[in-house]
Amino acid sequence: MPKPVVVIVIDGLTPSMFEAADTPAIRFLAEHGEYRRAASVFPSLTPVCLASISTGSYPDVHQIPHLVWWHRGEQRIIEYGSSFGAIRAAGLARSLRDTIIDLNAKHLSRDAETIHEALESAGLTTAAINVTTYRGTHRHLPTIPGVPAVNGPKRFFFYSLYESDRTGAPMAIRNRALGSIDAYAASVGRWLVTRDGFDALVYYLPDYDYASHTHGPDSAHEALARSDAAISELMDAAGGQDAFLERYAVVLCSDHGQSLVENVARLDAGDDLVTASNRAAMVYTNTPRAVAEKLDDQPVAGIVVFEEDGRVVARRDGDEDEALLDEVPDGRARVAAALRNPNAGEVIVSAAPGWEFLDLAGRHHLGGGSHGSLELADSEVPMLTVGLGAPPASITGVKGVVARHFGVSVRRAA
Ligand SMILES: [Zn+2]
Repeated sequence: MPKPVVVIVIDGLTPSMFEAADTPAIRFLAEHGEYRRAASVFPSLTPVCLASISTGSYPDVHQIPHLVWWHRGEQRIIEYGSSFGAIRAAGLARSLRDTIIDLNAKHLSRDAETIHEALESAGLTTAAINVTTYRGTHRHLPTIPGVPAVNGPKRFFFYSLYESDRTGAPMAIRNRALGSIDAYAASVGRWLVTRDGFDALVYYLPDYDYASHTHGPDSAHEALARSDAAISELMDAAGGQDAFLERYAVVLCSDHGQSLVENVARLDAGDDLVTASNRAAMVYTNTPRAVAEKLDDQPVAGIVVFEEDGRVVARRDGDEDEALLDEVPDGRARVAAALRNPNAGEVIVSAAPGWEFLDLAGRHHLGGGSHGSLELADSEVPMLTVGLGAPPASITGVKGVVARHFGVSVRRAA
């Protein structure tokens, strides 16, 4: 039987930060694994990226388009959490339901198959801690009455709200800035490793991204030390670093990068609806070319993409050339998939370097870090595999690496 696998996702960790890390758990894994820089997807924002990691597909297949988007069927904005202000503006209860429940139950395409669905249909046991794309076949009741039940993997832990097993972990949401969510993950992870409770665990650590938004990219050293400590907890539970690798194969990656925000602006698309957050914006319009041309003189707009007669058009500052997409990682594939997502706007705008869009509530990260664009800094992630062969070139390859390790064939999207 192949070794069980731990997939560690440190949200927002840049390749440069990973490569310079001198923290013990990350260093140890790096010394024993194979490493490369890999590409994220577009928009390079967490709900989109985690859906791609989980389903092994680009957004045209999994259909999660952005952190904030227009639901054409329900004629309303879906807001997964650009900022607390944006969540309030979209309706607090509705946004929480969209983010926690409906992202998996309704928005994530049935044609996409999660890593949990793929492995559990082959008789394996999977576990997920705090990851936002968790869809599986096991029904889980909430720990708080009045919240709907959800379908997740057999071992399922989500911010203290869903817990398939009693682990004694502390509440997840106590003090975000001090890393309480990763501390919760570590406590649950320790419990799972101690019991040998899974064939594959998706171990998602979001606190680094939170700190990096505040302090700026490559500055959140304290937060990285805490992410590292959360990995060390798993190793300790296994009996130490060497014992951990004797027992487990590992993927360690992030979901997207980050870049420094030096300027902020609201995207103006006239009367057309804009959904903007961080460094990506979408415009829902009947006149994509006219909108793209109107954006030429807005400094916040970097590469602007839309489809015309079935072909992708890429435009920047009035220049129209698909070769613009060769300047950014995996540009052509990422843009085509973003535009062919049925939930995306007709025009997608990648922010210019150094710029960020205001969200629904006018919030931003000026002076801190942000991500979402096609640009290199947002789009490159560290990708390390230990005991699994060569690391994939894209976050969409993680699921396939794990499935192949177990000899499980993955369902092709319809
Ligand atoms: Zn972020």
